[in-house]
Amino acid sequence: MTSYQLSPEHEAFRHVVRDFAAAEIAPHAEKWDKDHHFPVEVVQQMGSLGLFGLNAPEEFGGAGDDGDFTSLCVAIEEVGRVDQSLGITLEAAVGLGINPILAFGTQEQKQSWLPELVTGRALAGFGLTEPGAGSDAGATKTKAELVDGHWVVNGAKAFITNSGTEITTLVTVTARTGMVATDRGERAEVSAIIVPSGTPGFTVEPAYDKLGWHASDTHPLSFDDVHVPADNLLGERGRGFAQFLATLDDGRIAIAALAVGCIQACLDMSVEYAGVRTTFGVPIGAKQGVAFQVADLEVMLEAARGLTYRAAAMKDAGRPHKEVKHAAAIAKLYATESAVTATRIATQIFGGYGFMEEYPVARFYRDAKVLEIGEGTSEVQRMLIARGLGLPVE
Ligand SMILES: Cc1cc2nc3c(=O)[nH]c(=O)nc-3n(C[C@H](O)[C@H](O)[C@H](O)COP(=O)(O)OP(=O)(O)OC[C@H]3O[C@@H](n4cnc5c(N)ncnc54)[C@H](O)[C@@H]3O)c2cc1C
Repeated sequence: MTSYQLSPEHEAFRHVVRDFAAAEIAPHAEKWDKDHHFPVEVVQQMGSLGLFGLNAPEEFGGAGDDGDFTSLCVAIEEVGRVDQSLGITLEAAVGLGINPILAFGTQEQKQSWLPELVTGRALAGFGLTEPGAGSDAGATKTKAELVDGHWVVNGAKAFITNSGTEITTLVTVTARTGMVATDRGERAEVSAIIVPSGTPGFTVEPAYDKLGWHASDTHPLSFDDVHVPADNLLGERGRGFAQFLATLDDGRIAIAALAVGCIQACLDMSVEYAGVRTTFGVPIGAKQGVAFQVADLEVMLEAARGLTYRAAAMKDAGRPHKEVKHAAAIAKLYATESAVTATRIATQIFGGYGFMEEYPVARFYRDAKVLEIGEGTSEVQRMLIARGLGLPVE
């Protein structure tokens, strides 16, 4: 089993991101949430700090050997500790926007798109989910047909993060590009195609009205006879689904890091409040009923952090994909379910004030739920873990 130990460099980097988040994000998080405002200038400042290039090569403006996946998790945790919306913006920008191009793109595609994405001057989305295909993403209905040297894309995508900001330059989408014969009959051939923003027929529909993540950008997308060059195929034809699944495995570790940031915030807020709020003449933290819940928060935090950074360390160490996938599912499942529990506990500790938007605990409560849904629901993680154990679960 791979263990993890953050290096002094990782810890020093954590302090850089923590200071940035405290100065540039925390003071505004409540207002951005209230106004449903996507703070593009701050996202670009995060880019200047190098947060989008932590696992990208230097030739595209990334950190090269100075960065790794663990550093990305540290950055997501620290940003997510003050603002989950900005944390998911970073996670999706790298995990879903940059990484598929980095992993599967041609040299030309990398050169065209990565320098702007890696430095945070631009953002990319990842369109797998459709109105009728989420957990069962293979049921994609969006189609792309090759006509006269162009892919003609028709269909719709749902819930796509970072797809409609003023600096979004592309969305990579999965689409059926034909049918292939298998032992059990025919199945759809699914490929991944890069669709630049602004291509005629590609419409970014109005943003969703979400329960949480109000400062994060999420839209439905529609494609009506959208023509893009044949060269916009990302990776191999027919491998789109497999490529996206591989992308999601890494993304799950990063979502677990976002959940760790959420639990840390719950612990910090609860310790502070339980020390100052008095009832019956003593701080509520003097009551075991409250103190024990705070103790539980720390246990959840340490367990979630351990699982998350262990999975990240396995990825950085180049462990076999099957092992990383299993560790990622375990980390995502435990950390995200713990984050939801942690926000419930923290809100309870704040009593009536926990229900008021003037306290950040209410925002974290609303933001946490989606962690159990995005990039594979808890049920999907349990399915993957059971399959990893050799069970023939459907
Ligand atoms: C804010 C937000 C941002 C998102 N960003 C993106 C993005 O950038 N790109 C993208 O492609 N997608 C994105 N998603 C989509 C997200 O990944 C899906 O919502 C998620 O995978 C679940 O799919 P679904 O919503 O279709 O639910 P369904 O698949 O319809 O699931 C409904 C319920 O049934 C359960 N279920 C389904 N199948 C099984 C099974 N076999 N066994 C047991 N239970 C099952 C699920 O766990 C869930 O509880 C985002 C979603 C949200 C809410």
